[in-house]
Amino acid sequence: MSEQATSAYRVLARKYRPDNFTGLIGQDALVKTLQNAITHGRLAHAFVLTGVRGVGKTSTARILAKGLNCIGADGTGGPTLDPCGVCESCQSIAMGRHVDVLEMDAASNTGVDDVRDIIEGASYRPVSARFKIYIIDEVHMLSKSAFNALLKTLEEPPEAVKFIFATTEIRKVPVTILSRCQRFDLRRVSVSLLASHLQQIADKEDIKADEDAIHMIARAAEGSVRDSLSLLDQAAAMTADTITATNVSAMLGHAGDSDIGRILTSCMAGDITSALSAFTNADERGSEPEKIISDMLDLVHYASLHAAGAGLADLPEATMAVTAELANNGIGKLGRAWQLLLKGHGEVKSAPNARASAQMVLIRLAHAAPMPTPAEIIQKLPQAPDGPPASQSSASSQSAPQQSTSSHTPSPSPTVPSSTGSSAPTAMAQDTNAAVAMMQEPEQAPQLSEPQTNFINSIADAAALLEQNGEMILAAHLRNYVRPISVTKGHMEIYIEPQAPEDLGAKLAKHLSNYLSQPYLVSLGEDKSGKTLLELEKQAEQDKFDSMKQDALVKAALKTFENAEITNVIKQDFTADSGLSQLTEQEDDRDA
Ligand SMILES: [Zn+2]
Repeated sequence: MSEQATSAYRVLARKYRPDNFTGLIGQDALVKTLQNAITHGRLAHAFVLTGVRGVGKTSTARILAKGLNCIGADGTGGPTLDPCGVCESCQSIAMGRHVDVLEMDAASNTGVDDVRDIIEGASYRPVSARFKIYIIDEVHMLSKSAFNALLKTLEEPPEAVKFIFATTEIRKVPVTILSRCQRFDLRRVSVSLLASHLQQIADKEDIKADEDAIHMIARAAEGSVRDSLSLLDQAAAMTADTITATNVSAMLGHAGDSDIGRILTSCMAGDITSALSAFTNADERGSEPEKIISDMLDLVHYASLHAAGAGLADLPEATMAVTAELANNGIGKLGRAWQLLLKGHGEVKSAPNARASAQMVLIRLAHAAPMPTPAEIIQKLPQAPDGPPASQSSASSQSAPQQSTSSHTPSPSPTVPSSTGSSAPTAMAQDTNAAVAMMQEPEQAPQLSEPQTNFINSIADAAALLEQNGEMILAAHLRNYVRPISVTKGHMEIYIEPQAPEDLGAKLAKHLSNYLSQPYLVSLGEDKSGKTLLELEKQAEQDKFDSMKQDALVKAALKTFENAEITNVIKQDFTADSGLSQLTEQEDDRDA
């Protein structure tokens, strides 16, 4: 390696760019279709090549251009799938200076004028070659008017003109264009194929690498030949002797994760400058903005799992350290970061300028992240009770004695900047705009004689509290339409099904505040993954039956009594014997 690390050294990805279809790995289907088209003289005027980045679209386009124009070593050949590579046409295309083969990157030439040049040129006959060929990379980036101009040429293409379009985002190419193209989908290359390709190249280059290391690189490349070769390059440059799996994992963990970790920790600390500079770092190293945001999402996910006490054994050590640090932000803030990033990820994907969009996401995150969460604001409210009951309870199991509401203001949480203390609702309004906060001052609560639930740890508690106070309809709406996102003693974030009464959230806030004799906050989120009480009840019923059916004794009973079926499950502190006897009794009754 060391001798090659001179100025003459070419990166592997460029050096091993395939110059014929034999060298193009993992695209057999495409090659076969093209072969048929060429053999039968059915060549379209326009081709569109689509597939993820680095999978070989541009290489394919160039090989195709060569094949279309190749005249063979003796100068008499026709279009072929196997360009000779020695004729003048092949050679000048390989060097990128064939007068009749023009490459354009639509990402930087999006306008109608750029396309007009092409259209004008297309009306002239090729100078020296069989076909005039236009290769337009990232064609989905063309403007609408550019597409329209192009369409006219595609509708009546000059005889000797071929278009080869390449795109990573076929859905953004207008159907009117696509319908005039022969489409080829380049597949992600499988890990095993990629691994054997890498092994061959490593052998040729005299790079020593363990089988494990090669596989790890192949996996990390996610089907992209170019990425896999870049990674092999990197690993070889970092390793003096044989590349091992340890080297590769250190490299993979280090390449992206430290940047991502710094971006995220900076954002969470509200340090916009540091976050943006780390982003620039990652960007300059070639990380795509979308990938950066999605890696940040992964990291927030790990940190949330960590904060929730879940084990994360299979993370690399470096990631583990960042994860642990981020977990200190607590589930509330991490959840909010997740929401912001998830929304931002969609924006970055669809934004015309992904980098700018990603930077905006970071700024937004850094702005919002250090703000107190609704739960922390509740902590600061004067009437907030302290010392919440720790157990996850349902109302039926808890009839706690009335708690004194006159206890003193809890000490401010250290994470809440004191300046926001007096304007808690304002900070709340600046919270993720997904949430609408509704807060009600408690009215004079009717004094009830019997002891009742005076805290809420779940929506079941809330429903029980409403029922205890005779609000049966409201309780029913809560059971049927409300999906919990997070529920604490002073605040619930919920998703309300659209068919619920419009003011359900406000009503809940009002009544719960009344019955608790203190403000209870209800905010609306967009996470629909929580289950309504109704769904939970149905599920519990089903589970009872399912688990009954698995019980050995029940199985035996069902086997013994031929037409027996389980009709009801009665919960009892039963020993195995009594359970069996009860069931057999029931079956006896049925038989009688
Ligand atoms: Zn040739």
